Amino acid sequence: MPPRTSRAIVQTGPRQLELRELPVPELTDDTGLLRVEACGICGSDAEQYTGTLPVQYPLVPGHEPLGVIEAIGDRAAKRWGVNVGDRVAVEAVIPCGHCAVCRSGRYTVCRGRGGMFGHGYVPLDRPPGLWGAYADYMHLDAFSIPHRIRTDIPPSIAVIFNPLGAGFRWAVELPRTGPGDTVLVLGPGQRGLTSVIAARAAGADRIIVTGLSRDAAKLALARELGADHTIDVEQEDLRRRVRELTGGRGADVIVEVASYTTEPVADAPWLAATHARVVLAGVKGFKPVADFVSDLVVVKELTVMGAFGVASRAYEAAIRLIESGRVPLERMHTHDFALEDAERAIQVLGGEVPGEQSIHSCLLPALRA
Ligand SMILES: [Zn+2]
Ligand SMILES: [Zn+2]
Repeated sequence: MPPRTSRAIVQTGPRQLELRELPVPELTDDTGLLRVEACGICGSDAEQYTGTLPVQYPLVPGHEPLGVIEAIGDRAAKRWGVNVGDRVAVEAVIPCGHCAVCRSGRYTVCRGRGGMFGHGYVPLDRPPGLWGAYADYMHLDAFSIPHRIRTDIPPSIAVIFNPLGAGFRWAVELPRTGPGDTVLVLGPGQRGLTSVIAARAAGADRIIVTGLSRDAAKLALARELGADHTIDVEQEDLRRRVRELTGGRGADVIVEVASYTTEPVADAPWLAATHARVVLAGVKGFKPVADFVSDLVVVKELTVMGAFGVASRAYEAAIRLIESGRVPLERMHTHDFALEDAERAIQVLGGEVPGEQSIHSCLLPALRA
C-alpha cells in the first residue's frame, strides 16, 4: 500500500522554504506515484529559490527526479512500459501532447497547459499537488515522461541523467556534432562539463573549454572528462588561443553555457569557423548583449540557435552512457544533501556558502540529516 502522506519541501516565496507533510495523490488509471531516490539541483533551482525565475507559490520544487515506481495505474503501466519497482529517470517537462510544438516533436517549449508546465514548476493548488521532487514521493501525470534506468547505479550518479541529457541535446543533437568537429564549450559548469562528455561520446575531434581563473578545478576536471585544451580567459587571449589551437580556422561547434555573463555570446562569432553552429544555452537574466558583431554571422554564414531544456532522445543517450560505466561521472558529483537541508543545498549550489564549490549536487530524500 502506498503511504498516505509524504514529506515535501514547499516554497512559499523567494528564499522561503518549509518542510511539510502533504497528502499523497489518489492514483488513477493514467497516473503513477514515484518514490524519489534523488533529485538533482542546478542553476534553475537557485534562480527559483531567489525569485529570479518567476513561479507561482506555493509549490514543491524539484525538476530533476530519479526514483522507483511505488504505484501505477494499469493504463500508465502499459503506456510507459514500466511497473512497480522499476527505477525511472523523469523528464522535467510535462508536455500537453497536442499543441503545435508538441506535434512538431520539439516539446521542451510546450506552453499548452499554461506557462512552463513541468515537475517542480506547477503550484500546489493545482491538483493533485505533489508535482515536484523535493519530496519523498512525487505524482506522475498522464503526460509525464519516465525513462527506465538500471537500479545498480548509485542514485546520486544515476540522477546525472538530467545535466548529461542537456550535454547531448545542446552539444551534439542540435549542432549535429560528429567526427572531425572542433567543439568549443564556453563555460565549465555542470552543463559545460556534460557538454564535453557528450561531444567526446559523439566522436568530436577536438574539444576546448573556457573558464575564469577561479574555475581552475573545473577546467582540470574538463580535461579529465575529455577536453583536449582549456583556456583561462582571464590569463590568456581567448581569440588568439582559439586561432592557434584550430590552425586559424575557429571552432565548428560552439556551445555557450555561461550563466549571466554576456561576453561569451559576443565572443562566439569571433571564435567560430565558417559555417559553424553556435548554440546559446546560458541564460543572462534578459540582459542585452553588448558588442555583438552580427556581420560575422553573415559573412561566416553561422547558424545560431537557442537551446531550452532537453527532450527524450538526448535523455536516452545520457542514460545509455551512464549505464555503460565508461565515464567517471562520480568525479563531477560533489554534494549529497538530505531533504531537510534543501535550502543549504541550493545556497551551496548558488555559491552563497563560503568555502563550498558545487559541481553536481543532489537531494537524497532517504538520507537523514
Ligand atoms: Zn535543472
Ligand atoms: Zn504542447
